[in-house]
Amino acid sequence: MFFHVILTTQCNLKCEYCYSEALDDMDSGFSESQVDYSLPTKINYDTDALARFCEADPDCVLTFYGGEPLFCMDEIKQIMDNVKAKHFMIQTNGLLLDRLESKYVNRFHTILVSVDGDEELTDCYRGKGIFKKVIDNLKLIRRNGFEGELIARMTVMEQTDIYKQVKWLVNNNEFPFTSVHWQLNAGFWKNDFVRRDFKRWSQESYNPGIIKLARFWVDKMEKEGKVLKFYPLLGVANSLLSGEEKSLLRCGGGWTNYAIQTDGYIVPCPTMWGMKNHYLGHIQDANPLKLPKVFVTKPCTKCKVFNICGGRCLYANVTQRWSPEAYSLVCTTVKNLIKSVEDGLPRIRRLIGKGRISLEDFDYMKYNGCEIIP
Ligand code: SF4
Ligand code: SF4
Repeated sequence: MFFHVILTTQCNLKCEYCYSEALDDMDSGFSESQVDYSLPTKINYDTDALARFCEADPDCVLTFYGGEPLFCMDEIKQIMDNVKAKHFMIQTNGLLLDRLESKYVNRFHTILVSVDGDEELTDCYRGKGIFKKVIDNLKLIRRNGFEGELIARMTVMEQTDIYKQVKWLVNNNEFPFTSVHWQLNAGFWKNDFVRRDFKRWSQESYNPGIIKLARFWVDKMEKEGKVLKFYPLLGVANSLLSGEEKSLLRCGGGWTNYAIQTDGYIVPCPTMWGMKNHYLGHIQDANPLKLPKVFVTKPCTKCKVFNICGGRCLYANVTQRWSPEAYSLVCTTVKNLIKSVEDGLPRIRRLIGKGRISLEDFDYMKYNGCEIIP
């Protein structure tokens, strides 16, 4: 099982798609009785309880998460020293990575770092100077011996040219990534759709960009024999190539990838913190292998691409923050992504047949924090 360990609810950035949206979303539509707004800002349970909980599952994988988890460096070290997890991972904005000793950084199986593309775009969403500091830190941890997977985790919205930015992330001289994941900022807030330009952007920029990107991805396989880890494309291709009949929610939220709140309560996914109706137990007495499972319901269960999409997002499905009309635009992006991968399959199969690439090149650690369906 996979668990996001939410170490703190605080962050040292005020990103456009998170902080500004939250300010505009004060009238969230959740009542006090539904959401516990008074969660401790920092973990307040005994890490021995986490150790006991995790030891009941020999395959327990812990991902440090926040807010910004590196605000809690002492707790990270304490957990890594005392909890017997199969792997540790972290999802971070990267700003404090230089402050954690290498002996801990180098034990991370995977680091997901928030980078939205090139310097101009990343700084536009996240603040001036952020890109440079993060990239300097990534160079430093590589120099200091980090050999695990580094995933550029992009949040994408209207200022993003997806084709240009993903290509830049793998092709630049500054710090070329080999793993990229992106998540659409869509369907997570209540009031944003009406003031945004999502419809035009998704139709005129994002969807055509994904078609071009999928072609670029397969071209790279053809020319260089390399399967780049573009997670949304990789995850869908992996399912199609292996003949998987039905994919459950691909982030694993609610059935194999849960989140542990700062007070020790377990929720289906980190975004569902405080949603009391969805508490699934407490690490003090829950068995990690016997947690209740929660699945997406309609409209996903009635959708033609449900078996391959998996439902995109449990939080969005449960809360329905966007109207059905608005959310259908998101579903159009999902269908376009699936079709773009399907269109590349004949070429991919030929390349596998010729031995230019192999089926194993499409393997990845599932539920590693990449939601697959953006
Ligand atoms: S495309 Fe949309 S409706 Fe269909 S399964 Fe995915 S998220 Fe659900
Ligand atoms: S995709 Fe949705 S359900 Fe899955 S982890 Fe993200 S917010 Fe949670």
